[in-house]
Amino acid sequence: MVFELTADSGHEQVSYFTDPETGLRAIVAIHDTSLGPSLGGTRIFDYDTEDDALADVCRLSQAMTYKAAAADLPLGGGKAVIVGDPPAIKTEALLEAYGRAIDCLGGRYITSVDVNSSVEDMDVIAQTTDSVVGTSDGLGDPSPITAHGAFHGIRACAEAVYGTGSLSDREVVIQGLGKVGRSLAEELLAEGAAVTVSDIDADAVEAFARDHDVETVAPEAVYERDCDVFAPCAVGGVVNDDTIPTLECDIVAGAANNVLAERRHANELRDRGVLYAPDYVLNAGGLITVAKEHLGGTREEAYDEAAAIGDRLLELIERADDRGTTVLDAADAYAEERIDGAETTLASSA
Ligand code: NAD
Repeated sequence: MVFELTADSGHEQVSYFTDPETGLRAIVAIHDTSLGPSLGGTRIFDYDTEDDALADVCRLSQAMTYKAAAADLPLGGGKAVIVGDPPAIKTEALLEAYGRAIDCLGGRYITSVDVNSSVEDMDVIAQTTDSVVGTSDGLGDPSPITAHGAFHGIRACAEAVYGTGSLSDREVVIQGLGKVGRSLAEELLAEGAAVTVSDIDADAVEAFARDHDVETVAPEAVYERDCDVFAPCAVGGVVNDDTIPTLECDIVAGAANNVLAERRHANELRDRGVLYAPDYVLNAGGLITVAKEHLGGTREEAYDEAAAIGDRLLELIERADDRGTTVLDAADAYAEERIDGAETTLASSA
């Protein structure tokens, strides 16, 4: 299983770490370091089996390679999982042991926040390694910067579909009013868009609607809502065999990770005349922020780089049109060109 999975997905290195004293069990997957050290968060999760943990960390680290490459960052892709029930296993001693473990990798893997790991956890890890970003001394919450990148991505999609990037009076439906969804809604409202919001947390929707000029839609009715842009900003897998036939939008562009249940769904959207902006291109603002922290730079610079996601996406849409592919295929091809050392940028290769 291990060699089959790691070699087939092109991983350079997969390391297992244990520490009997603290009960640490961690897997670090370094997918590709052609463009620089691998960077990706540490997920703490109680996987059913070790094979599930390995499959998840490999899938996630490969995705980080593509996200970093497509964002023109000098970074590779990596990810880590600590196996166990977070409240039960997460102690300072375990996190320090984990920091020592990743320190052994000599800077080939840099960690950050992910599901069930926090800024406070990164502060503890930083006591035993320098290979960590997203600490409280860092550039702060990346979510508004992720939203800023997604906002510019949505503008680019509008330009491609409607011939103007103006979102004035365009109806955008946002699924998920969390840290990213709320910031995105506020940027869109400031631009004059007609924003509809939805969340499984009815209180969050009510509170947001009280303070903002938005419409609301029930979580189960979100897909069939007639709109220009559907922006998934909650969970993955929401564009699937069941939801695609019900979609009433021209554009699917959101910040959630793994929006498509399966890769083939990008083709199905294209066949239906719906423009799908690859999630990992649109939501790269978070990675851009922690990369800025690692490489040195300011939060303002991270905002500027996230805004450039719009131009990058427009170039990818043009490439996809020229080649008759989906934008997802164009984005993957661009990332692979960078990784293979073509040293290309979109502007120079378009
Ligand atoms: P969050 O946890 O703050 O918010 C998620 C929101 O989605 C919550 O309000 C939750 O109630 C809601 N939700 C969950 N399931 C839902 C459903 N089925 N229908 C409607 N709403 C639902 O998360 P976030 O930081 O805002 O991130 C949102 C998405 O963007 C995630 O997929 C995340 O992986 C991705 N992302 C976030 C960042 C970042 O900087 N925060 C960066 C890259 C990608």
